[in-house]
Amino acid sequence: MLLTLSLSLLYSRRERGMKVVFLCFVFILMFASGNRAQEFSYDGDTGPQYWGSLTPSWALCSEGQSQSPININASLDTTNSLSLHWVDLVSPITILNNGHTYQIDVSSNSQGKAGYLIWNGIKYTLTQFHFHSPSEHHIYHKYYQLELHMVHSSASGGSLVVGFLFQIGLKNANPFVSHVMHPITQVARAIQQTNIHNSFHFSELLNSFNVNSFWSYSGSFTIPPCTEGVQWIVMADIGSVSDRVLTRFQRYVPFNSRYTQKLNGRVVF
Ligand SMILES: [Zn+2]
Repeated sequence: MLLTLSLSLLYSRRERGMKVVFLCFVFILMFASGNRAQEFSYDGDTGPQYWGSLTPSWALCSEGQSQSPININASLDTTNSLSLHWVDLVSPITILNNGHTYQIDVSSNSQGKAGYLIWNGIKYTLTQFHFHSPSEHHIYHKYYQLELHMVHSSASGGSLVVGFLFQIGLKNANPFVSHVMHPITQVARAIQQTNIHNSFHFSELLNSFNVNSFWSYSGSFTIPPCTEGVQWIVMADIGSVSDRVLTRFQRYVPFNSRYTQKLNGRVVF
């Protein structure tokens, strides 16, 4: 960078055109180097095994002791209860392709509300939901084709994610997943966001699941900066997704699943 700056100053004393070209070059380099540390991917030298060393603020990705996802090999949680109060989404609904996943951003839509849940007496508001394929969590060492993450936050800054796993089924594909995935073509390119006119009904998601049947554990976000202290709830039932819907998702969002992390003595309920 210093070398480039010196070169630009040297050449700026010559032709004005050359100066402009070199200053542009400098700005491009500054922009590229400034963003490089913030990039991550699911393969190659910015893949999950390197996230923790890409930038100091992502160190937890490699040094954290309570990371997600995990392989779940435990009895169901019979001590905690989950109280869901999600509110159906209506137009306009913000959808985006952030380059890592397809996401429905609840907090920024004009309604500004999608409901909440109660966990251990704490209210967590739904802020966004997104998908991973294949699933990030494994159940008894088995992964599934798709995982939906419903991301919540509490007033005190706590985070809670509810995970739903899906496999390709011959019939009875979950209608919520089909409906939510349908407009993905409107954000076909990475880093694209738009508002759609539609409505999404959470009952269409929950009809396929017994919401009283789940595992819970303390983990992290599954993307950098891999922040810990995230309460996880993973539904025990496996939903169904159609081959067509899954293929459409994978066309616009390539493999985006972090490998399972060590438990390090954590208890899964
Ligand atoms: Zn996720």
